[in-house]
Order: sequence, then C-alpha cells, then structure tokens
Amino acid sequence: MTLEQTLPLCIAGTWRLGGGARYATCYPATGEPVAWLNAANLDDVEAAVQGAHQAFLHSGWAQRKPHERAAVLYRIAGLIRERAEELAQLQRQDNGKPINETRALVASAAGTFQFFAAACETLEETITPSRGDFVSMSLYEPMGVVAAITPWNSPIASEAQKVAPALAAGNAVVIKPAEITPLLALQLARICDDAGLPKGLVSVLPGKGSLLGDALTRHPLVKRVSFTGGTGTGKHIAHIAADKMMPVSLELGGKSPTIVLEDADLDHAVAGVLYGIFSSSGEACIAGSRLFVARKLYEPFMARLTAAAAQLRLGDPADERTQMGPLISAAHRESVERYVALGLAAGGRLRLGGQRPSGGLFDQGYFYPPTILEGLGNQQQVCQEEIFGPVLVAMPFDSEAELVEQANDSLYALAAGIWSRDYKRAWALGRKLQAGTVWINTYKQFSISTPFGGWRDSGLGREKGRLGILQYMEQKSLYWGMNEQPLAWAGVEAGQ
Ligand code: NDP
Repeated sequence: MTLEQTLPLCIAGTWRLGGGARYATCYPATGEPVAWLNAANLDDVEAAVQGAHQAFLHSGWAQRKPHERAAVLYRIAGLIRERAEELAQLQRQDNGKPINETRALVASAAGTFQFFAAACETLEETITPSRGDFVSMSLYEPMGVVAAITPWNSPIASEAQKVAPALAAGNAVVIKPAEITPLLALQLARICDDAGLPKGLVSVLPGKGSLLGDALTRHPLVKRVSFTGGTGTGKHIAHIAADKMMPVSLELGGKSPTIVLEDADLDHAVAGVLYGIFSSSGEACIAGSRLFVARKLYEPFMARLTAAAAQLRLGDPADERTQMGPLISAAHRESVERYVALGLAAGGRLRLGGQRPSGGLFDQGYFYPPTILEGLGNQQQVCQEEIFGPVLVAMPFDSEAELVEQANDSLYALAAGIWSRDYKRAWALGRKLQAGTVWINTYKQFSISTPFGGWRDSGLGREKGRLGILQYMEQKSLYWGMNEQPLAWAGVEAGQ
C-alpha cells in the first residue's frame, strides 16, 4: 500500500473504488495521512446488499455442513495470526493505540474466529419433549444479510465479534466500519477472500454512518443489525429496526463505577483502577470512569493512585513501552477538554493532568494526559455523561447503601468493578450493582466465551459466548407427525 494509491473497497465480491468522495485516514499520533480511499456511496450500499443477498442464496455457504463452514473460519483465524504483526502495525496507525494493545486486539480477533468456528461445528439442535404423536424439534436457520456497524476504538476486534458469529451461522455480512478507521475491516475482507470464503459474503463500506449506516439499517434485505457505538446512534437504529420488525443488537456507551472497599488489597486496586480508566486512553465503553473509595481509605488511596497515574507513559504508539497513545482526533480531544472544564466549573478540583502535554510528538498528535478530578458529586454532568477519554472522577463514600444508590444512579449500566478482600461482601455487592459485567478484584478482563453487553442505555442483546451465534439465526420449530391414524378432529378414518 502506498500513499499515492486510492484503496479499493470490497463490494459484492469485487475490489473497486468507492463511489463517494476521496478522503484520507490519519495517524492520530502525528495527524499525517495513512491511506487514501473513496468512501462508499448509496449505490455501493445497494450493490453490497444485493451482492450479499445473492451470495447468501446461491453460494451454498448457508447449506454447507457446520464443520465445513468452520473449516473456513479456522483458516481466517490462521491467516489473521500469520499476518498479525502487519495488522497490528496498521491498526496502530489507523487509530493511534499503542502497539502492544493493537497486538492484543489482533490476537483477540483470531481467537474470536477460532471460537465461533468451534461454536458452529458443535452447535446442537434439540429434540424437545413430545406431547403428542409427533417428534418435535427446535432448529436454527441463518437470517440472510447482516449489517455490522462498528466504532473506531477497537477495529478488527469489534468487527471479528460480529463477522465471525454471523458467518458461522451461515449469513452474509456487510460491514460499515467507522469512517475514520476503515483499514482493518478492509484487511479482514482480504483475509476472508484468501481463506476461500465465497465471494460476496463479506463487503466493506467505509464512509459516513449517517448516510451509509442509516441506509444499510433501512434496507429491506438486511435482516439484522449488529451495532457497536454511541447510545444516540443506537437508539436511532433501534427506531428504524422497530419499523422493520428487525432484531438488533446494540453495544453502547458506559459510565462504569469502580469501587474500592476499605479492606481492598491496595496494590491490586491501584493497578486495576489505573488500567480500568487509562488503558486505551479511556476510549473504551467499559472504562471505569467513576471511582468510589471508602472514605477512611480515600486520602491514602488517592495519593497512591495519583502517584502511579503520573508515572504512566504517554507517547509514541510505536514504542513498546508506551501505555497511553493519543486520542482519536483533534475534535475528540476538544470534547474531552470541554468535559474537564465543565467539571472544574462545577466546583471540581484537578488532582492530576488536565493540560495538553507539549513538545516533540505531543505538538503533532492528539495527546491528553491521565486526568483525575475530585470534589464532585455523582449528579454532576462529568459523572453522568460518557467522556470516552482518560478522565477519572473520584468520590469518597460513607455507607454501602449510599454507595449502591450512587453507583446505580446512571442511565448507563455496562460494567462495574469491586475491590475487596471480603469475598462474601464483594459477592453481595456484586449482585446489587446494575451492570452487564461486574469484575471483582480485576477489571477489563475478557473472555470470548463469556457473554458481553449492557443494561439500560448501555445496550440490548449480548455478544460473545457460545450461544452468541444464535443472535444471527432464526429459531424454527419442526414437528414430525407419527400418527398411525389421521388427526381425529376431521373424522377421517385410515384406509377409507
Ligand atoms: P458512533 O455511534 O458515532 O459511531 C459508531 C458507528 O456507527 C460508526 O461506524 C458510525 O459511522 C456509525 N453511524 C453513525 N451514525 C449512524 C446512523 N445514523 N446510522 C447507522 N450508523 C451510524 O460512536 P463512536 O464512533 O463515537 O464510538 C464511540 C462509542 O461507541 C462510545 O459511546 C462507546 O461507549 C461505544 N462503544 C461501545 C462498546 C460496547 O461494546 N458497548 C464498545 C466500544 C465502543 P461514522 O464513522 O461515520 O461516525
């Protein structure tokens, strides 16, 4: 790939230029272009969906035996692993995450394909207990064309989480990656081609979500949308889906509480809270952005946390020692800065950070340091809205009842963390917290075999888990009549 080239898109089984405007994707660490491409346009949406529909009907993919589909998915996993370093470097440039993190995302994408290959070839359909002269079965059928709409913060991992189960289930997929991070989705489509996936089953449409994502969602041949992104966009998609009676899964925003009880192991809690909010520069739906610390422990804990946060290595994403890279864009950094200003205007105090760093790469890219605000209540805007940056708001709490009320007092309910040595107390508290995922004495750890998703404004549906494949299938009940005699109601005798 050279900068002079305009990257082709993968549309309905062919690689060709998009019909929309030419644009560059930029490396957030320097602001320099990484690649040029033409966005897709509405004609491309139509071509991709029609191509996917034809591939679904005629490629034979849906009719292949599960173990045959699985074989292709295992090959995709293998090719991702073979090209892992190239993909990780490209992703680093695409969204500015530190190289160690993008390596982990690529490894996770390979693991996701492998997992859903296994889920596909081991998925069981059931014979249900019969209550008559019939054998009754519960089966699953693929849906047809699935749209996968993904955000910019974890490309390839987000795409794999949708594409792998959708293909495993026998569907075709049209991916709409974030406009600013399309490169990994295009690479994934190349890998699908190279692994021998029938042409047309995967298309990739980079460009504006308000145009392309909207058109995909509305398209009558699109039978399911799997979306990860902001809550506002998710609700928009849900409205369209309601009119079409189309199922959707929505992985949306978060404002997750992370709680340090007075008996916590401080070394573990400091490390976990830091990782929970500042890894990925806080650009994570599950970022532990609201910190509640037992009042007795508040000062000593905050002193340790602040000292450790000040040591985090912010800088060049290509450097393996870097822990935090730049934010995704200049506009996003300004939004994070506005939230910090709002917190200060509401009476908050800066315990750490809050100022753009300067010098060298810091003058080129969209860097923002680990920032800790305190002196604010849970009702403040910075505690209620998703900042999606490296900003932690710390609050002391007195009683557990007050803690639970505040931790749950959020439109979001994606994740929560608890730090305590008392396993019984942690268990009881974990059951009271309203969240799709609760971590106890750890944070931001994931397993593809464990379902993931949010409550309330954090989303609908679950991804991952062995049964995640069922999201992309329609359930069908089948009855086989075993009667010796015609059904009695009609009064027809056998042999008459
Ligand atoms: P957006 O909702 O803005 O965008 C997500 C995707 O939707 C992009 O591809 C975007 O395209 C597209 N899109 C935008 N408008 C529409 C529309 N009208 N119809 C259909 N698609 C549309 O989110 P961000 O990109 O800002 O991502 C950050 C958000 O994602 C945060 O809120 C974060 O919490 C959430 N997220 C949730 C996760 C979870 O698993 N719960 C995981 C990761 C992130 P375009 O690129 O043009 O904007």
